[in-house]
Amino acid sequence: RNWAEGDLSQELLRAVEKVGYTKPSPIQMAAIPIGLQQRDVIGIAETGSGKTAAFVLPMLTYISKLPPMTDDIEAEGPYAVVMAPTRELAQQIEDETVKFAHFLDIRVVSIVGGQSIEEQGFKLRQAGYAVLNQCNYVVLDEADRMIDLGFEPQVMGVLDAMPSSNLKPENEDAELDTQKIYRTTYMFSATVPLALERLARKYLRNPVVVTI
Ligand code: AMP
Repeated sequence: RNWAEGDLSQELLRAVEKVGYTKPSPIQMAAIPIGLQQRDVIGIAETGSGKTAAFVLPMLTYISKLPPMTDDIEAEGPYAVVMAPTRELAQQIEDETVKFAHFLDIRVVSIVGGQSIEEQGFKLRQAGYAVLNQCNYVVLDEADRMIDLGFEPQVMGVLDAMPSSNLKPENEDAELDTQKIYRTTYMFSATVPLALERLARKYLRNPVVVTI
């Protein structure tokens, strides 16, 4: 199977070609079409599987389809947030996202612990990022490790700062408001411990479980 059979935009197909990924990995083949439909996804995948591009490509597709930015910086993005357990992983995700995002003129910022607030606050302002209340796309990467490292309260804090009114209805048959942008939540994890199951039940809606 190849990329052209997926539903990526021409723009992203060109970007993927330039980046040099000749064919999608199994997790990409399975998770990208679901992500493009803006269904919530639980992806069971390890590092090395290509899981990053599996959530980055649908995320960039989502951002590129949003209505044009206004001049009101206060009311702006971030349009998507990815949370990860370690600085190293945050850096890898940033690198992998920038590879594709620069073709679409989408800005990427990584914010990690252990760096000065001033420095990172500057990065945020520079990018025009301010609040989470317009953010309707969120990814939890290596979610089991975030829980192992005790970050569950922080993860929940970020999720709770996003508008819960934008969660899709629990009932799969419920009619969706076509004018509304619903929140999409992607979760990647190597394992699904009980604490993660609980988190998923609270914050994901009718997730599709993708295993490779
Ligand atoms: P990840 O599992 O996301 O950490 O990706 C592991 C490595 O595979 C990274 O260096 C990616 O740049 C690379 N990669 C991801 N998807 C592909 C692909 N479809 N073709 C070739 N390399 C890829």
